[in-house]
Formats: sequence, structure tokens, C-alpha cells
Amino acid sequence: MEQRGEHNFPVDDALEMVIMFDSAGKISYANETAKKKLEYKRDLCGRHISDIFPNTFRVSGKGFETDYPFGNSQQNLVAYRKNRTCFPVETRIETEKDNPDKYICMANDILEKEHLSREVEQVRKEAQQALKVKSEFVANVTHELRTPVNGVQGNVRELLSGELDHGTRKSLQLIERCCEDMHKIINNILDFSKLEAGKFTLEPREFHFRNMLDYVKANHINKITEKGLGFFMTVSPQIPECVIGDELRIVQILNNLLSNALKFTSFGKINVQILKTAQVNDRIELFFIVSDTGIGIDPADRDKLFQSFSQVDASISRKYGGTGLGLNICKQLVELMGGRIEVDSEKNKGSTFSFSIWTGISKEDGMTQKNDILPVMTSGIDQTSDGEDEKMENVRKYGTPENKESLKRNLSKLILCVEMENWEKAEMFMETIRQLTEEAPPEIKRTSLRLKMAIQKGNYDKVTAGYNELEQYL
Ligand code: ADP
Repeated sequence: MEQRGEHNFPVDDALEMVIMFDSAGKISYANETAKKKLEYKRDLCGRHISDIFPNTFRVSGKGFETDYPFGNSQQNLVAYRKNRTCFPVETRIETEKDNPDKYICMANDILEKEHLSREVEQVRKEAQQALKVKSEFVANVTHELRTPVNGVQGNVRELLSGELDHGTRKSLQLIERCCEDMHKIINNILDFSKLEAGKFTLEPREFHFRNMLDYVKANHINKITEKGLGFFMTVSPQIPECVIGDELRIVQILNNLLSNALKFTSFGKINVQILKTAQVNDRIELFFIVSDTGIGIDPADRDKLFQSFSQVDASISRKYGGTGLGLNICKQLVELMGGRIEVDSEKNKGSTFSFSIWTGISKEDGMTQKNDILPVMTSGIDQTSDGEDEKMENVRKYGTPENKESLKRNLSKLILCVEMENWEKAEMFMETIRQLTEEAPPEIKRTSLRLKMAIQKGNYDKVTAGYNELEQYL
């Protein structure tokens, strides 16, 4: 065993050479790298430091003489091997804090370091090239995929406009839904690969901020109404009429957050709030808050949310679909716009996603003073009352008047959808009914499950039977 004196540092396997010596110049410790590079096997300890650095250290009396500026600075020296061949090294030699008679020398082989950094550069270039090839490939493939999906969708739409029997209509509606999902996935993959390859550029231009919000609202309002959810959008009057930013991408972020809020909320409401939080010259920071009263997210899963391809768990992807790319894309877009995105959520209570972005403001545009509170609709539940939270709790609790009321409302909407052969929407209401009966006695839960299966199969008779049975319980 190598004798280490009183030193016991975890540097044995360090990549740089580590040598310790005392005021007599005697080496008391050398790590494996030092022994290997200097080609000493066991006999490096006990040598004089001038054997290694003869140009810098000279034997003098009982110690050594040197001009070396001990301390934090890096110095280039020449190190000598046992066979007296030499190589340049970058060194730092310090005295030990508690013991000024002990010296620690850390040295790196300069040629090897240069060789390594050339190799790293080469690997970096190769990786960049591979990423470029990959993103070009993804761009080509997704483009090629779009054409056949468009073809299928166009034809299906044409067929759907004609006379059809129930079974055929249901199958075609399903194909159309699949096409829409495919479009979303293709767009997400394309954006994701561009962002990953650093090839994504924002296209800022002046746009009417409130018109943009109206457009976002219009994208979702039908589904929100169908689900019987409340929706509120509040815009601070301090935000000017026109701002300069990438409208398309802001819409994309809001659409994604709103679709998620809608997807994961069966009862209650969705709230959108936009504030101006800072201004520096002609740039303003906008702060968006999108909150829902949906299924919420476990604290342990929150960190995973913004990673690519991440969904909270496999059962979520089975039940609600999606690729897990949406929030990662949102995060990257928000960061490109100089902001941050965050989430705050409580399981079974709801989630709040908030993000900030910086936009420009047009010179001519003054501040708007109009009333910016835009309540769109409230369903049967009074979302604005003081006991709002309590009411929401009661809606979830099986057997409460609020729960029964909500069940009745969803059941009648469900049966209406079935009558109109809109099985997709019926499934949506069924999901709400399933959640509202989660705490119900087993026989009711079984009926609810049978109703769900009947809807999935498009079996009209069984749906009616299940509906009647559930109605009776209410
Ligand atoms: P996807 O396209 O699969 O929905 P996202 O990145 O948009 O991907 O979302 C990832 C996951 O985050 C979702 O699958 C879901 O588990 C969770 N999540 C996102 N938004 C919400 C929300 N408002 N409420 C509950 N869970 C959510």
C-alpha cells in the first residue's frame, strides 16, 4: 500500500495529477494519475519535487528554492517523467490551509487536454450534425404524413355529410376524430423537433391582443358549454389594445393549457386571467393564469410535467389520450419569449398553470380603460357565490343535492347526445357521470360502468336501459 502520511483525500481516481510535498520538497502523496503519467510505479513518494519540476524547483539546504507563485493562479510548467523525458503541464500549487509547510500540486497534461477538447469539439459537431439530420428527417416525414391524413379527413367529411346508418356514422366520426388527433400529433412533433434542434424562430408582429383572446375563447367555448363548465376570462385594463409578439405561438400556448384544463375538468369552471406585471421602456411583461377545478396533479408528478413525452401516469394517457409533448413545447415557447411557466395544483381540487412572456407595445396605442371582465357563461352551479369551494366539494360527494343535481344534468345531456348519435360527446358526459358516482354504492357504480360500456359499443338499447336504471337511483 502507498503511504499517504496524514493526508486522506478522495483524489486517488481524479483525472488530474495530484502530488503533495512538504517544505523539505519531499513528496508524501501522489495519486494514480500522477504515478501513471510520470511513469513511476511505487517509488514516487519520497522523491524530491525538483525531480518532477527541475526547471522550477531546485534543491537547497534542507528544502527547496523556487519562484513559483503559490496560490490559486494557474502556471504552465514542464513535468519530467522517470526516464527524463518531459511534457508541458498546467499546474496550481497551494499550501495547505492549516499547515503552511505542506503543499498540494494539481497538474493537467496540456497536450492531452488540448487533444481532449478537440475530441469534445468533434463529438459536439457530430452530435449537431446528427440532430440536424434527425430534424430534417422528422420534418420530411411529418410533412409526408400530413398529405394522406388530409386525404382521409376530406373524404370522411364528405361521406359524413350524406345519409348514413347509425353504425357507419359512428365509425366515420371515429375516423374523423383520429385524423384530428393525428394532425395535432404531427404538429407537436414538428414543433418539438424544431425547438430541440434550436431551429425555431419566433415571428413577432403587431396584433390586437383582445381579438386574439376572443379567438382562443371561440376555439374552446363550445366544448366548455357542452361540458356544462363555467368560463371566465379577465384581462387587466392596463394591457394595451395592440402588442407586438408571436400571436400564433401565444395562441398555441393558451390553446394547449385550455385544452388540458377542459380535458381534465368534469365539473366546476375554468378561469383565465391576464395581467400586466412589468414594463421596461416599450416592452411589457404579461402574466397569464389558467386555472381549473379538475382532477389536479399529484405533487410528486409536478416536476415531470414539463419534460418531453411525459404524462402523469399510463392510465391518464389511456383515458385522456395525448403525447405528453404539449407542456414541454409550451415551456420552450414561453422561455423563447423571455418568460417562465409554472404549475400549482392539488389532487382532486384543480390545477393552476401560470406563465409570463415579454411583448413589445406599439407607440401609438394608448392604454385601454374598457371593462375587461368577460364572463362567458356559468352552468347550473353558481360559481361566483361565496360558498363556491364548498359547493364544488359537494358536487364531488356522492348523494349530496349538488351531486344529484349535477348527475341529473349530465345524464340528460348524455341521453340527448345518444339520441343525436353523437357518441363522442356522450362519452364525455359519461366520464363526468363516472366521476360523480365514484363514491357511490357498488350497485350504482356497476350500473355506471355498464352504461359506459354500452356507450363505447354504441349500443342504443343498453344505453337506454342503463340510463333508466341510473335515473331510478336518483
Ligand atoms: P398531452 O398532450 O398528453 O396532454 P401535456 O404535455 O399537455 O401532454 O400534458 C402532460 C400531462 O400533464 C397530461 O397527460 C396530464 O397528466 C397532466 N396535465 C396537464 N394539464 C393538466 C390539468 N389541467 N389537470 C390535470 N392534469 C394535467
